[in-house]
Amino acid sequence: MPIDATAPYDDQNIFAKILRGEIPSEEVYRDEWAYAFRDIAPQAALHILVIPHGAYVSWDDFSTNASAEEIAGFVRAVGKVARDNDLVEPGYRLLANVGAHGGQEVPHLHVHLFGGEPLGSMIARRSQG
Ligand code: AMP
Repeated sequence: MPIDATAPYDDQNIFAKILRGEIPSEEVYRDEWAYAFRDIAPQAALHILVIPHGAYVSWDDFSTNASAEEIAGFVRAVGKVARDNDLVEPGYRLLANVGAHGGQEVPHLHVHLFGGEPLGSMIARRSQG
């Protein structure tokens, strides 16, 4: 069910549990600012989630409240994951769902990184529902 992007951070959300090692995940990359792991239900040949270590509900929360250091570290980590996976050429897609209209289901900021194949049109067209 889509989340309310303005709700307070819930430290029992599934990605908080992954960060604490309470539930398993398939690690792709980790540094001081970010953790990257494989999406459990991949929607492309390569589908990686990149999340900050900090407790941020959404892109809105992160872009408002994270420090400049956290934002720089996180953005650099997303780029590094793409480079490390040889995605820059032929290309890849980043996506961050925010709130109900964005279809965000997990209330810890995550950037989806898709690649490994041509990804088609950017979003579903209105006529396709
Ligand atoms: P969103 O709709 O943007 O909130 O995306 C949430 C994503 O988290 C979906 O693509 C799910 O497949 C993924 N997901 C949910 N639980 C897990 C998990 N335990 N490990 C890895 N990915 C997960």
